[in-house]
Amino acid sequence: MRYLLCWLASLLPLAAMSAETAAQDHPIAIVIHGGAGTISRKDMPPQLEAEYRATLKQALEAGYAVLKRGGASLDAVQAAIRVMEDSPLFNAGKGAVFDHAGKNELDASLMDGATLKAGAVAAVQHIKNPIDLARLVMDKTPHVLLVGEGAEEFAKAQGMPLMPASYFYTQRRWDELQQALKDEGGKAGSREIHPGISGRHYGTVGAVALDRQGRLAAGTSTGGLTNKYYGRVGDSPIIGAGTYADDRSCGASGTGTGEYFIRLGLTKAVCDLMLYKGLNVAQAADQLVMHDLVQLGGMDTGGVIAMDRDGHIAMPFNTEGMYRGYIDTAGKEAVFIYMDE
Ligand code: ASP
Repeated sequence: MRYLLCWLASLLPLAAMSAETAAQDHPIAIVIHGGAGTISRKDMPPQLEAEYRATLKQALEAGYAVLKRGGASLDAVQAAIRVMEDSPLFNAGKGAVFDHAGKNELDASLMDGATLKAGAVAAVQHIKNPIDLARLVMDKTPHVLLVGEGAEEFAKAQGMPLMPASYFYTQRRWDELQQALKDEGGKAGSREIHPGISGRHYGTVGAVALDRQGRLAAGTSTGGLTNKYYGRVGDSPIIGAGTYADDRSCGASGTGTGEYFIRLGLTKAVCDLMLYKGLNVAQAADQLVMHDLVQLGGMDTGGVIAMDRDGHIAMPFNTEGMYRGYIDTAGKEAVFIYMDE
């Protein structure tokens, strides 16, 4: 009997190893968005459209390369988002929109579906890649969300360089703020008037990835809304609103009018419909974006990307367009901008 037990025990590591090998073979996939909004074909110069598509492709491929070499979904999400943060095309990192006070205030978060660990930063003004700082908050602190000065002090302590405000300046975003201020009759720098949230352009970026171990991760990064009140924080750094990941259901990242996403706990609601109600990822994402969000805020309020553990992808939006794309479990790559593609 003792020999039999010893023999069985000697087999255990083998069994564990083959389970691990099997886990390493899980299909991989990535889905990203670069914001939803009034994006119409007739107003889009062909050159700009080509640049958007190329950068979406570059972001997808940066994330996918991580997954392909067996890297973690969290690292893939960061890699994809970093590309979009570094591009002036998107409202995240360089190219972020200006708030009512004429400043760039950035928000970002990411979440690990395997452990439910999460990290986020809000209202930072000098961080080149807020998604990387969110990761450090997750990995190096017992906290989930750091804001403003405290977040930047933490970044400095972690050896992250702080960027001058001028790094984030782009003429296009400045002009958008001027237009928004003109529409409401205010001027940049004033904190007196309660600004209206203008425009229906959301350039927020996000990613959801599935790695060889079957782990989901999601992340989101944004400059928020043009002409937002100084100090306003949207849904993007709020876990459960703009970002959520749970290996038992899905990973999700949103873009749109953050206030509605916060009030609906939108990304977690997508996951919960799957977990507790048995909906599939397409049904769950649709329910939130095409029904609940529309009911609360009307059309043009945003969209979401979501992916389940088998790599099924959903990308519903109630706006005219949404910059989006994926590389699916079959390795098929696609990027889209408009509703009709
Ligand atoms: N959801 C973001 C916010 O409200 C904006 C966006 O998606 O572009 O801050």
